[in-house]
Amino acid sequence: MIFNIIFGFFGLLVGSFLNVLIFRFPEMKGLISGRSYCPKCKKNIAAYDLIPVIGYIILRGKCRNCQKKISLQYPIVELATGVLFFLLAITIGINYQLIIYLLIACVSLLIFVYDAKYLEIPEVFSWLLLIFVIISSFLNPHFLVQDFLLGGLIGGGILGIMVGISNEKMMGSGDIKIGLAFGFLLGIYRSILFLFLSFIIGAIAGLVLMASRKKKMKSEIAFAPFLILAAIISIVWGNQIVNLYLKFAMI
Ligand SMILES: [Zn+2]
Repeated sequence: MIFNIIFGFFGLLVGSFLNVLIFRFPEMKGLISGRSYCPKCKKNIAAYDLIPVIGYIILRGKCRNCQKKISLQYPIVELATGVLFFLLAITIGINYQLIIYLLIACVSLLIFVYDAKYLEIPEVFSWLLLIFVIISSFLNPHFLVQDFLLGGLIGGGILGIMVGISNEKMMGSGDIKIGLAFGFLLGIYRSILFLFLSFIIGAIAGLVLMASRKKKMKSEIAFAPFLILAAIISIVWGNQIVNLYLKFAMI
């Protein structure tokens, strides 16, 4: 358990790096190097204010220099990365496979936030996701080629058909690659669960957004966040859910 918690804290730190990537990616400036600065007053941020989540709480969400609000994205992404690292350490166990799963988690979070923010998925992110998934599948000692291929066919195929029918209004081609990647990773049964969950989460989120009048019926909503939430649930609890379903279906 102690190692899982350590991985959780490590995730908080990685999360603050992911935030920097998301904010600086559109301009590609000082992506890796370069000190962190307030996007409003451009003043460098002190190291002690950069402590994940805690820095935000101590500053009460305001820049120490200009008092302007700090985006809630910072603590949310940090916390989400921490929780995800913790859950994956429990699910996968502390082994070499965990490393590739953590990379998959990082790219997924990048896609999640990027799509939610800018309504687009950079090609490099979706390709990285596919590559990491393929590596992880081949590293898996229980790898089954037909499960891998059929999972991909379900995940990528069904989303591909939906993109075609909806004329890219509801989802885009970037979403197909994400569906394909998680389909490969999850195999046949969990891919079906994954798609099913993504549509349910999407429908609920759409209704909530419309009820709160943040979105209109026809306005564009990013779909990748729903795919990623569904994928996380399917990776962490997918086997239990599928087994439970099969048990009840047998009765
Ligand atoms: Zn400032």
